[in-house]
Order: sequence, then structure tokens, then C-alpha cells
Amino acid sequence: MALLEMRDVSVTYRTGGLDVPAVRGVTLSVDSGETLGIAGESGCGKSTLTSTVLRMQPKSATVTGEVLVDGKDVTTMTWGKVRALRWAQASMVFQGAMHALNPVQKIGVQIAEPILLHDKKATHASADKRVGELLEMVGLPARRADAYPHQLSGGQKQRVMIAMALACGPQLVVADEPTTALDVMVQAQVLDLMASLVKDLGLAMVLISHDLSVLSSACDRIAVMYAGQIVEEGPATQVFDSPAHPYSGALAGAFPRIGDARFRYAPSGLPGDPPFPGEVPDGCSFHPRCPRAIDRCRAEEPALLQLTRPGADRRAACHLAEVRA
Ligand code: SF4
Ligand code: MG
Repeated sequence: MALLEMRDVSVTYRTGGLDVPAVRGVTLSVDSGETLGIAGESGCGKSTLTSTVLRMQPKSATVTGEVLVDGKDVTTMTWGKVRALRWAQASMVFQGAMHALNPVQKIGVQIAEPILLHDKKATHASADKRVGELLEMVGLPARRADAYPHQLSGGQKQRVMIAMALACGPQLVVADEPTTALDVMVQAQVLDLMASLVKDLGLAMVLISHDLSVLSSACDRIAVMYAGQIVEEGPATQVFDSPAHPYSGALAGAFPRIGDARFRYAPSGLPGDPPFPGEVPDGCSFHPRCPRAIDRCRAEEPALLQLTRPGADRRAACHLAEVRA
């Protein structure tokens, strides 16, 4: 059974007397030892969707559907169970490590905090030992525990955030844009680290990024979100190299590599913005921006269906994709 299973998950915000659907009917799963990438521009629902895994969605949000972590539904469990699940079973690497660390506390103390909080048997000595192990696990010397955040580079701070997420030995880690603030070389190193932790520790990882090229190298599978829905899902290299949905194609083409003729869509980026939640157009939600839209796209919403391509374990929601009904 998958470690994370989301079944028909929708998230609706109540704002200004209106119900605004930010996530609409998402179904996906992640196994142990697997990294699932979630791609899409900002405002497509990626962060809202994954916030439900630790029940961290804002208070104004209503979640429907099931979010099963190791078979247990996070949306209906008691708050006591949710607190026990956080860190120990599922944890999060937040966006912007620069700001997430406490500037006036040594990093060793910050990493030890969840350990001391969640493991009743932990002592300060055992927590310190664990901190050293965690730092080495993420490629930092154990003595860096005595450093303050300002003494570390951006990449080192992000490694500290990863060490913190691993502190209580979770089976599932959700990382929201973990490398966005880092330069390209450091970004690659941090992603390599995360990929090796997934394999070595048998973690299930969900990696969120607007950058499809980052996800294609770091993930086993990718789900592409647009306007709160999954529009394509499949093996990472297939989604990136031969996108079945024009939006995936545009995302892949938005980060072109010189001399690479594989992209079928203009690499100049995509005009316009995703629709605001609550203002999603009829028919295919992508049709106002889609270079391939036909009349049918304005009238009829495409379902997310299995592709018929040989060997493909892929789903896409596009009238022009070859799909199996
Ligand atoms: Fe474009 Fe039509 Fe496919 Fe939507 S259904 S992605 S508008 S071709
Ligand atoms: Mg986000």
C-alpha cells in the first residue's frame, strides 16, 4: 500500500462570503522509496494540496476527500493524533530556509527541539548525539551544531532544514520549493542529497517546484497541476521529455536547454497567468492560454484519463492527448 494516498481531495477557501476552490478533486499516491514531484506555476494549488498532508491548511479552508498517511486519514483524525503524526511520521521542509531558522539560536539546539519534544525517552545527551548524526547524514560536519544560522551559506541552511525534517525519523517528507532560493550548483547538490536520502532511508518524498527541469532530475514521477487540478501525471522523464499536456509542454519549454530540439512548444514561456481560483473558465481550464485549443476545449472539460501510448503509465487531461476511455 502507498505511504501517502490522496483520494479525490478538494480544498475550498471561504473568503469574503465566497467559496473559492483552490484544489479540485486530486487523486495521487506516493510509495516508500519514491519521490513524487508536483509541478505548476504559483497559484495552481500545489502548496494548498500538500498542506493537507500535515493538516496545515489555513483555518478558512475546508478539505474533502481522503488524505491517507500509512493508511490513516489525516482529515478526520483527532488533533492529538495529528500532533503525533507531525515530525514522527510525516514532516515538511519549508520554502526559504533563510527565514525559517531562528537567527539567535545555535542550529544544533533547533534540530534537537523536535527530538526532545516528540521522544519522551530522549535526553539532552542523546538528542545531541542524534543531531551530530543528522548533520553528517546531510553532509555537514557534526561540529556545525554550534554554528548560528548567519554563519552558514544558503545551501548549508537548507541542509539543516532537511536534517530537522528527518530528526524524528519520518517515513514521509514534503518539501515545498526547497531549492528555489539557491543558486543552480547548490540547488543540484541539495536535490542530489534529497534523492539519496529517499533511496537510503526508504522515505516517501513529495517535492514541490515550479521548475519542471528540477523535478525531472530529482523525481521518479511528476504530477503537473493547473488551476487546482492534476492535468498530467507519469514517470518524470516521460512527462518532461514528451509531455502529453500542452501545459506540461509549456513548463518544460519554459526552461529550455540550448540545442535541445525535443520541445514541441514555444520555449519563450507561456503568455498570461493561471486563473484565480473561483474564476476558472468553462471547458478546459487551460484553454485561454493553450496554443492548441480547439472549439471543443471551450465547451467540454477534459477528464484525466490513462494514455494509450505503449508502456505508458501516464494520465493526462487534454482532448488532444491519445487517451483510453
Ligand atoms: Fe489545450 Fe484543449 Fe488540451 Fe485544454 S483540452 S490543454 S485547451 S488542447
Ligand atoms: Mg507555493
